[in-house]
Amino acid sequence: MTYRPIPVNKKYIGAHVSAAGGLEQAPLRAQEIGATGFALFTKNQRQWFSKALTDDEINRFKAACAAAGYRPESILPHDSYLINLGHPEADGLAKSRAAFTDEMRRCELLGLDRLNFHPGSHLQKISEEESLDRIAASINLALEKTHGVTAVIENTAGQGSNLGYRFEHLRYIIDRVEDRSRVGFCIDTCHAFAAGYDLRTSAACDATFAELDEVVGLEYLRGMHLNDAMKPLGSRIDRHAPLGDGQIGLECFRYIARDPRFDGIPLILETPDESRWPEEILLLMQ
Ligand SMILES: [Zn+2]
Ligand SMILES: [Zn+2]
Repeated sequence: MTYRPIPVNKKYIGAHVSAAGGLEQAPLRAQEIGATGFALFTKNQRQWFSKALTDDEINRFKAACAAAGYRPESILPHDSYLINLGHPEADGLAKSRAAFTDEMRRCELLGLDRLNFHPGSHLQKISEEESLDRIAASINLALEKTHGVTAVIENTAGQGSNLGYRFEHLRYIIDRVEDRSRVGFCIDTCHAFAAGYDLRTSAACDATFAELDEVVGLEYLRGMHLNDAMKPLGSRIDRHAPLGDGQIGLECFRYIARDPRFDGIPLILETPDESRWPEEILLLMQ
């Protein structure tokens, strides 16, 4: 008999689990912690390229997901941290675009329907707008070369020259993507808070998510990262904390857990203490 996670509150709740020892280990690890969804890297996130996926690897991953009941809509793969789709220089941009397209293709082969990525950085060499234009063009190139996978832009804390710290950046990029059916975004609560969007109370959450809906549109929301924040509101510093241990506090996560606007998408913990994931998942399921 196979175990089938039933989305509680119609939400897919899980964590970014390790795929060490083979991609099929990720759904197994997710199952062990009681998750109804999960995130993973489909390759080593600190390397530019990995060898191509074999049919065997693909089949094992698909079989493990099916056996545990994880459908594509409950899985949020994350791309490599090296990729910068808004790179100011030709070489860096070309390498990033090739690597991103490769990651989109890996998702397609694995039967996954979305890929979460950080938009990119201008590295103080071009303007924010020029870099955002490059990011949109990079997405268009990758979408042309792949099928069925949505590019999911993550908001950032705005550390250094990272773009995506304003909801307007997400809107700007989405507006320039040709196939609007295959672009979306992911909100990381720690990043939003660090970027200056308050989430500490239900009233603050109401205001922040109303702004998000108005500026970008919640119809494009394809996942969320649920992390508390170590640093204060507007610090622009990206340091995740376990839920309830940081500056945001539990009210925000309870708010998200019971709000139907966040149904049907992966809600992923990237909190630092893995031993607490089962308890954090339970908290979100109540
Ligand atoms: Zn991320
Ligand atoms: Zn994140």
